[in-house]
Amino acid sequence: MKKKAIIVLLVLLSLAMPLMAGGSKESSSNAAAPATPTLNEDGTFHLPITDQKTTFSIFLNFNNMPFDPNWDVWQKLEELTNIRFESVISQSNSNEDEAFNLMLSSGNLADVIGYVNASDLEKLGRDGGLLPLNDLIDEYAPHIKAMMEKDPAFKQYATSTDGNIYFIPKNQTLNFAEFWFIRGDWLDKLGLEVPTTVDELYDVLTAFRNNDPNGNGLKDEIPLFDRAGWKMPDEYLYLWDTSIEFYVRDGKVVYEPLEENFKTGVRNLVKWYQEGLIDPEIFTRGPKGRDTLLASNVGGMTHDWISAVDYNTKLTSSIPGFRMIGIAPPADQNGVVKERTMRYPGVGWGISTQCEDPVTVIKFMDFLFTEEGSDLMNWGIEGESYYVDENGNKQFYDTVLKSDQTPVGYLRSIGALYRVGMNQTGEYELVSTNDDGKAVIELYESHPEWYDETQPPYADGELDMKYFPEDETRYERIMGQIKPYVEEKLQGWILGTSDFDADYDAFIKELHTRGIDEAIEINQRAYDYYVESGLSN
Ligand code: CA
Repeated sequence: MKKKAIIVLLVLLSLAMPLMAGGSKESSSNAAAPATPTLNEDGTFHLPITDQKTTFSIFLNFNNMPFDPNWDVWQKLEELTNIRFESVISQSNSNEDEAFNLMLSSGNLADVIGYVNASDLEKLGRDGGLLPLNDLIDEYAPHIKAMMEKDPAFKQYATSTDGNIYFIPKNQTLNFAEFWFIRGDWLDKLGLEVPTTVDELYDVLTAFRNNDPNGNGLKDEIPLFDRAGWKMPDEYLYLWDTSIEFYVRDGKVVYEPLEENFKTGVRNLVKWYQEGLIDPEIFTRGPKGRDTLLASNVGGMTHDWISAVDYNTKLTSSIPGFRMIGIAPPADQNGVVKERTMRYPGVGWGISTQCEDPVTVIKFMDFLFTEEGSDLMNWGIEGESYYVDENGNKQFYDTVLKSDQTPVGYLRSIGALYRVGMNQTGEYELVSTNDDGKAVIELYESHPEWYDETQPPYADGELDMKYFPEDETRYERIMGQIKPYVEEKLQGWILGTSDFDADYDAFIKELHTRGIDEAIEINQRAYDYYVESGLSN
């Protein structure tokens, strides 16, 4: 081992002491790196990573799926690298938060840890539970390092406000996330054009409401619906360039409910709801809402993921002519076209200070950023889930495309696209969708100006920023008072249980009383740091 590596390791181990003192594992300074380099002399990745099978414990639970070493993709990874991960969460346990807190309170940390929330992972890092990975990446992870140099957003998301990298994020290559979809067959039937502005959209939704496009003689259409209304109650405020979140305008963080657009947006949403243009059950419908409303031929328009076009195939026999088409985001009241949903890097995985061989783990993490590792994580296993066609393009077999799950669901069931540090290319979305899906992806991809890349990360419409430790607790306390209050008020206005204009002045006053100005300042500090951390290399 090189001298520098030994020094790095000793530093790392000494950082780890506070937590390890209470832990169960003994570690010694010679339990370190194997002699093999990350790369071969010709620059290819050195496999296997260890000569003997090496097992690490892992804490990961993604979408209620605890990590499973028996997934096909992870069996293949084990075969290639000699590294195996054993889950410390039992397969029957789906409560991620509970399991995480239980692990922390036990003092026994898994070797590798991933969690849903970046700030909790970083807090664990600052408390001495996760290793700072900066030097390990520098020394042993050339592919991760290259990704950080290539993609500032990836580096920003990885870097904590103390300058340390505590986890390797899951990167996203594509911009687009959700799209606007409308019943194209209903437009045709009523002789309507695709709406291009929010005012035209109002007219189209009104026609859907009044003119019986499903042809059953009943006024049963639900023109605008959303299966995510329960978790993103402000999604349709985007139509008027506003939300109940923080937003960055010209480098300045604003809280949108304090801004002028918010009044326009809420007044219109209230009107649309009263006039029956919006699903009366939008806040309670739940994730199955899209299935229900499309299969019963009453849903007219929604903002959703690409899977919305799958119904064009699924429902073709039960609803003749059924067709959801993707359209450009309608221009707002100022004539501006924007798409607010984007993909941002998300949480991946880190290495705990109780791990006895972090060098081997970081090499494995690096392998997932090689072409071979990346293909496994994005496409599954060649010859089983995908093949390369005569033009050199990857294509999925029907086992992926025509299983009883969605293509993404199938890929996850074999351990691909899991929540680990990787580069999610998104190609599976292009390859697994139908012609209507390909058309809308092409439309959104050809308009990068719809996406404002100066915005900080959001997850499910909520700001996903990192805070300085001294700000974090304070921020959580303030927003704990503000967020539920604003959500409750918004729902009350839309549902008509309280009056927006009558409430407005008191509402704004209450936001100030509850500390919104300080929360804006904290976000401004975090945003400024976010911008700087991506620029400096
Ligand atoms: Ca009808």
